[in-house]
Amino acid sequence: MTKIKMTVPLVEMDGDEMTRVIWQQIKDILITPYVDLKTEYYDLGLVHREETKDAVTTQSALAIKKYGVGVKCATITPNAQRVEEYNLSTMWKSPNGTIRAILDGTVFRAPILVKGIQPYVPGWTSPITMARHAYGDIYRDVESKVAKGGKATLVIEDENGRREIEIFDFSKSGGIVLGMHNTEKSIASFARCCFNYALDVKQDVWFATKDTISKTYDHTFKDIFAEIYESEYKEKFEKAGIEYFYTLIDDAVARVMRSHGGFIWACKNYDGDVMSDMVATAYGSLAMMTSVLVSPDGNYEYEAAHGTVTRHYYKYLKGEETSTNPVATIFAWSGALRKRGELDKNAELVDFANKLERATISTIESGYMTGDLVSLFKSDVPAVKLNTEQFIRKIAENL
Ligand code: NAP
Ligand code: MG
Repeated sequence: MTKIKMTVPLVEMDGDEMTRVIWQQIKDILITPYVDLKTEYYDLGLVHREETKDAVTTQSALAIKKYGVGVKCATITPNAQRVEEYNLSTMWKSPNGTIRAILDGTVFRAPILVKGIQPYVPGWTSPITMARHAYGDIYRDVESKVAKGGKATLVIEDENGRREIEIFDFSKSGGIVLGMHNTEKSIASFARCCFNYALDVKQDVWFATKDTISKTYDHTFKDIFAEIYESEYKEKFEKAGIEYFYTLIDDAVARVMRSHGGFIWACKNYDGDVMSDMVATAYGSLAMMTSVLVSPDGNYEYEAAHGTVTRHYYKYLKGEETSTNPVATIFAWSGALRKRGELDKNAELVDFANKLERATISTIESGYMTGDLVSLFKSDVPAVKLNTEQFIRKIAENL
């Protein structure tokens, strides 16, 4: 069999712990036997981030800007314990945060649906893709306690002069106060990312805020989305047969529960934080969630939504058998290869990516899976628990 050729390299970002082990197995068993894989390799494993003083993370993000598509393995975000474990010179920042700051994108998360693994919400027969605004609001706020008898005032200075707005008079009781912000630029970029992604995957966009209560702050989100939709996307959406739908956040939550899925749910930062955990859990498992960072100028970075699965890695190091689920990491690879194929008009590569996904799903549907899925699986065929490598080899047989 001749291998599928690639013309433009994929930006490959290796990572840490159990997912680093799985990364190599996926490449060796599922990809390189069929694809003449061309990647520009960046090792974002914590050891090499320390060796390069984290320059490698920035270099990998710039490579995505150059080539347009990257695939990333899960990486450790260091904390005090990791600084000791890896003898780090400093507590390096989250690689995902660094990459996101350079690409300025929105993260879209979607569950991988498999027959036999029923969502906890039985009506959700199609995936709900979560799009979370990743800038501002309470994540960049300032907060303070105020003693009884105090007063809090909002002071604004801009080209219109200086204004003072009383927030609250705490004369009867002490209390709390916070100030938060967002920027028109960031909200506009979020809106464009959502609309572009919707056109890409041909799905409706739902967006919701609390604009009836927050008549300036949340209303600005609503207005910016509406302006950009009307002036830049309305015609394209009509041509693609998809819709942009705006409602209030509480109405959105109620509608989402009654829906069948199959749309993109764009959320403000806090709503997205909370709702994406609910949606991921309701679909079954974090190990079955894909994640893609889309930048406003059309760069894509694919990864799994879960972390490096540390607990399994320590067992693996002791020589114990592990059954870590590689599905989300496989879909990161297939997503990146498909996008590379689409951009390069490489139909064979697109076809391979689709077949890899189908082989993965049908392997589970025929009863072969990793340990995390066994208790969730309900089907006529019995569930057989495999270790990670056995499961990947079973997918290769189907492929
Ligand atoms: P995690 O790696 O997602 O794992 C948490 C738990 O979820 C695991 O212990 C396991 O449960 C289950 N799980 C997650 N993925 C699984 C899979 N593929 N197959 C089977 N079970 C899976 O989160 P964490 O333990 O909180 O974080 C570990 C490291 O990952 C941290 O250093 C963190 O900084 C990093 N992290 C990186 C990213 C990223 O790069 N995008 C994201 C999140 C976390 P059981 O132990 O019960 O089997
Ligand atoms: Mg959260």
